Amino acid sequence: MSTPVPPRQTPEQPWRSEGAPPPPHRRKMPGGWGGLVLTALVVFLLSDLLLSFFGAGRSTTISYTEFDRQLAQGNITKIYSKGDSIEGTLKSAAPKPEGKGNYTEFTTQRPSFADDRLWATLQQQNVTVTAEPVVQQRSFLANLLISLAPMLLLVLVWVLLARRMAGGLGAAGALGRKAPPKPVDTTAGKRTTFADVAGIDEVEAELTEVVDFLKNPQAYRRLGAKMPRGVLLSGPPGTGKTLLARAVAGEADVPFFSASASEFIEMIVGVGASRVRELFAEARKVAPAIIFIDEIDTIGRQRGGSGSMGGHDEREQTLNQILTEMDGFTGSEGVIVIAATNRAEILDPALLRPGRFDRRITVSPPDRGGREAILRIHTRDVPLSPRSDLGQLAKVTPGMTGADLANLVNEAALLAVKRKEDSVGPNDLSDALEKVQLGAVRPLVMPQSERERTAYHESGHALLGMLQPGADPVRKITIVPRGRALGVTLSTPETDRYSYTEPYLRGRIIGALGGMAAEQVVYGVVTTGSESDLEQVTNIARGMAGRWGMSERVGRLTAVPNDAQGAYGLSAAPTTLDAVDQEARRIVSECYEDAIRQLTEHRAKLDALAGALLEAETLDEEAAYRAAGVPRGEHELP
Ligand code: ADP
Ligand code: ZN
Ligand code: MG
Repeated sequence: MSTPVPPRQTPEQPWRSEGAPPPPHRRKMPGGWGGLVLTALVVFLLSDLLLSFFGAGRSTTISYTEFDRQLAQGNITKIYSKGDSIEGTLKSAAPKPEGKGNYTEFTTQRPSFADDRLWATLQQQNVTVTAEPVVQQRSFLANLLISLAPMLLLVLVWVLLARRMAGGLGAAGALGRKAPPKPVDTTAGKRTTFADVAGIDEVEAELTEVVDFLKNPQAYRRLGAKMPRGVLLSGPPGTGKTLLARAVAGEADVPFFSASASEFIEMIVGVGASRVRELFAEARKVAPAIIFIDEIDTIGRQRGGSGSMGGHDEREQTLNQILTEMDGFTGSEGVIVIAATNRAEILDPALLRPGRFDRRITVSPPDRGGREAILRIHTRDVPLSPRSDLGQLAKVTPGMTGADLANLVNEAALLAVKRKEDSVGPNDLSDALEKVQLGAVRPLVMPQSERERTAYHESGHALLGMLQPGADPVRKITIVPRGRALGVTLSTPETDRYSYTEPYLRGRIIGALGGMAAEQVVYGVVTTGSESDLEQVTNIARGMAGRWGMSERVGRLTAVPNDAQGAYGLSAAPTTLDAVDQEARRIVSECYEDAIRQLTEHRAKLDALAGALLEAETLDEEAAYRAAGVPRGEHELP
């Protein structure tokens, strides 16, 4: 059961300088080794084959009957036997059984049933007999080879892999390589341009210089002006960083190479760096061009944090390659690297040095005018009903990014299709907004008692929201289950807010505690339904005490590191952290008492609002204020 969207705090994920993965093996194979082993192996195998081939070629295979006849004629000088197979030599050449020529050397096979007292006959005829055991004695070399074979095979595989990793010298290297990087959308019919970007004009203005340079590098070169080699776009997700990079390439009409930094981090060591090399080489060939590296924080985070072992990991190698390539620019190639991140504060300072990403541009969520402009862009191809008011929509969507607004328009269009309308009307827009802000409706049948409790819980949030001076007005209350919530109360500010006063924050805490307080006042027990409310309360209270200097006892210092700084960001004495906890606790309990007091005092209003909510399930702003009997204009701070 959530209250307003919490103030957007920059980083979304806590960053910890996690232990780097153990350094992978990257020793290079000495070059000639593999080839030598390979040749030796081939020679051995071949020579064996050749020998047996020629050996077989000299003698003629004859039937045992023929052998018997020759023996009877006394035409055999010597034989050599191995098991039941016999090789031998004739005294004088005999005609071959199939005709064509004579033979002296022969091979034959003695049938196991031959009951011919062969030995006696051989002795009689004075034939020299040599024999060999059936199990063949292998030569020393063959033995060696066989015992070494598995190892040799392993070595061979290793060599192939090593070659492949090294970025592919020779034939073996070509095995696992990808095609060289290709620019995306160069000649595509319609390219993204600044006309597709709105609401971030100051950023566009900074980038026009880059566009200008790409369009006309000679003019800059003539005057010896050097362009930035790298531009870093930083800002929350969905603010249009990728879009902007594309638009710069489109405006300048130059090839756009795009790679996500996480693509560089591949399983196979060393590939990342070689991909970077290729990417830059390709871009240089077609310069002027833009290389876009998305999510650069995945490879560009600070080095040397605890746990990174000597800096021998893939990420670092890739990062170094990017830096090396950028350092190699003379400044006149006309290749400009644009990188994007939503966590600029964790980037390695080496990236931000002059000559690298020295131009840093912050992309923020749009203000009201910006939102309206973005809505106009995204409704260009959407038939809008004349009654749809984009200005009004922009007003009620503070905090939303370009991506959120694009999504909102799309949801509205989908709804209009579902409703078989031929244009997108105000209803579609407001229902889509509801879905985007509150989550999708969940079909869930709740018992009446649960519905009642939820109605009181949400009414508690809403009523306290209405009663706090300076709080964001309540826009919508619902007890239709949505997403993971059983009910939702939505408050959004009248205008964009960029900073918050202490009374405002207290009001937020009181409002967030309103749900729990209402359950306490009405039923005398609390439920598990307030979990996310309490999380929000805790965040605000700890921020007030430990980050924003709103507690006398803690003082005017930052005691609680922000997410980006992580556990290593700041150090405070345990007593300070203790004080933060106690102060946060004090603030929250004061606010809770206040909430209970106000709800008890305005119990009639609470009952009226809950009753209306049970009846209607969803109340919009006007209906909610009317049901509670609170005048709508009480939102200015005294
Ligand atoms: P980011 O890279 O900052 O996370 P994207 O550039 O990927 O955000 O934005 C996603 C989509 O949101 C874009 O494709 C575009 O449709 C829309 N969008 C974001 N910002 C804007 C803007 N300023 N103007 C118009 N559309 C935008
Ligand atoms: Zn709640
Ligand atoms: Mg992006």
